[in-house]
Amino acid sequence: MTYRAPVEDILLALGYGAALNEAIRAGHYRDYDADTASAVIEEAGKFASDVLAPLNRVGDEHGATLKDSNVTTSPGWREAYRSWADAGWNSLTGAEEFGGQGLPLVLHAACSEIWSAANMAFGLCPLLTAGAIEAIGIHGADDLKQTYLAKLVSGEWTGTMQLTEPQAGSDVGALRTRAEKQPDGSYRLSGTKIFITYGDHDMTGNIVHLVLARLPGAPDGTRGISLFVVPKFLVNADGSLGERNDIHASGLEHKLGIHGSPTCTMTMGDKGGAVGYLLGEENNGMACMFTMMNQARLGVGLEGVGLAERATQQAVAYAYERRQGHALGHKGAPDPIAVHPDVKRNLLTMRALTAAARTICYATAVAIDVSHQAEDEAVRKQANARAGLLTPLAKAFSTDIANEVAALGVQVHGGAGFIEETGAAQYVRDARILTIYEGTNGIQANDLVTRKLGADKGAALRDLLDELGQIVTRVEASNDPAFGVTGPILREALGSATRASEWLLEKIASAPNEALAGAAPYLRLLSLAIGGCMLAREVLDGRTEDALRDRAIRRTPLARFLAENMVVQVPALEQSIVKGSGAIEDADAVLAN
Ligand SMILES: Cc1cc2nc3c(=O)[nH]c(=O)nc-3n(C[C@H](O)[C@H](O)[C@H](O)COP(=O)(O)OP(=O)(O)OC[C@H]3O[C@@H](n4cnc5c(N)ncnc54)[C@H](O)[C@@H]3O)c2cc1C
Repeated sequence: MTYRAPVEDILLALGYGAALNEAIRAGHYRDYDADTASAVIEEAGKFASDVLAPLNRVGDEHGATLKDSNVTTSPGWREAYRSWADAGWNSLTGAEEFGGQGLPLVLHAACSEIWSAANMAFGLCPLLTAGAIEAIGIHGADDLKQTYLAKLVSGEWTGTMQLTEPQAGSDVGALRTRAEKQPDGSYRLSGTKIFITYGDHDMTGNIVHLVLARLPGAPDGTRGISLFVVPKFLVNADGSLGERNDIHASGLEHKLGIHGSPTCTMTMGDKGGAVGYLLGEENNGMACMFTMMNQARLGVGLEGVGLAERATQQAVAYAYERRQGHALGHKGAPDPIAVHPDVKRNLLTMRALTAAARTICYATAVAIDVSHQAEDEAVRKQANARAGLLTPLAKAFSTDIANEVAALGVQVHGGAGFIEETGAAQYVRDARILTIYEGTNGIQANDLVTRKLGADKGAALRDLLDELGQIVTRVEASNDPAFGVTGPILREALGSATRASEWLLEKIASAPNEALAGAAPYLRLLSLAIGGCMLAREVLDGRTEDALRDRAIRRTPLARFLAENMVVQVPALEQSIVKGSGAIEDADAVLAN
């Protein structure tokens, strides 16, 4: 079954769930044109269905291959990439100065969801290029910008992010790749990176690697890391390609999923050192990486949303086709399995979790946009704190639910789901990486509790909870029976969120291990509370727009289902946070046997 972009759902989630329209009214999106935005999303959907979705299976079955340090991508991918870049999809948000279209991140976010839904392994390549564009755009010296940005923005070249080494995964500070300064101001890098996505491929003429490395005598840990631009082919002064640089793919991983995305071991320094150019300042590489992290993590969250949407579409279609058993009291020919309450529950769970994750991701994109675009500095600062708070939720919740949704998708298919030909199994395999790369979800939860909640003593969170409280008041005031008991459940969830946050704030200082033990359930608690409120806002406020009214009304039971079946679990998560750490402290006794 192919993929159809859920354009109306995306527009509702953007405009109302994530409150983009409110930000537009507040003047934070000058030049934003709603008609252009819907046309872009519609067109992205067409390209995704026509070109990218059919290649998803091809990539899975005929993954990338490595020969003599050169990676060949799956059949048809090179051509698809070229037509995708030629159509201008890579340049949506790029700076106009470098040939970009200068559109806001929210549109990029909507399109990223669509690329990932159609073909997640393909969409990963531009996700990394976007990181390279951002890093060079913010931290690059003028000559670096002039040499690399236009080609990266157009998609003529792609980018990679190279952090991981065998001994340096979650603990990036342990990396050992060396960089030495040369008399001409460039650097020579040597070392080995592992698990590098699109480290080599045949889709473009050059690849711009962003590599973290350590200078001689640099301080230990993350304070001694620098960031370098290391092109696959050196670039001549006139912009033409010069010699092959001393960096190559020395291995290609065999993986559980995303077979179409080459995951490479990269070796630098076999011939004296790869030529690299410093980005930002020496020993300040981690700070440079951090400036890109919100967007990269949001990008992975959107992969989760896209994959969950695709798995849901396929499961819903199957459930209305496959006939087995009868609805209670019905006789005659078998009914579609969608008549059975348990199947309905599975399908609604899939759709509701996807919708909640989508609103959180889009709200993160709005916050990032406003943090750059608002005229008032105080508004920019507040939006930056909101973006920081929402980013670990966008990454971890969306990717956790992608795994849950993909697994439910297989369940809905019964035995057929376990058979590769059906396609549902690929989503389970592809989804599995999402909770691991770009900072594991455990690391996201730690970040939420220590850096995001702890850093401002909960100020950004309180601000958000106040805003969500107003949504709950409006849901209650609507007196719409279609909401069931959504209002009281959301209110209770916000109460749990407040109490759990205060408890954690106290423990971060007094008993940090107890706080960290509760980090993952806290991330889930906040995501359900926030996603529940935002989905309620989406269906309530979406009714005010003529073109979307019907869809908003038809989705009201989804907001209700989410609240009455999932947000209702929030008080239990609160208990898990405040009471669950005791046994975790004693874990060694059990685990060590
Ligand atoms: C397909 C694929 C593509 C990738 N692409 C890239 C890429 O393009 N560029 C790149 O640089 N890297 C990439 N990676 C690497 C990826 O980012 C790392 O695998 C990831 O950061 C985890 O590191 P690790 O594998 O060493 O696991 P470890 O760090 O060993 O973690 C193992 C487990 O311990 C937990 N853990 C570790 N430390 C902590 C802690 N402090 N608190 C709580 N829990 C902790 C983790 O959550 C995890 O569950 C890719 C990996 C894969 C598999």
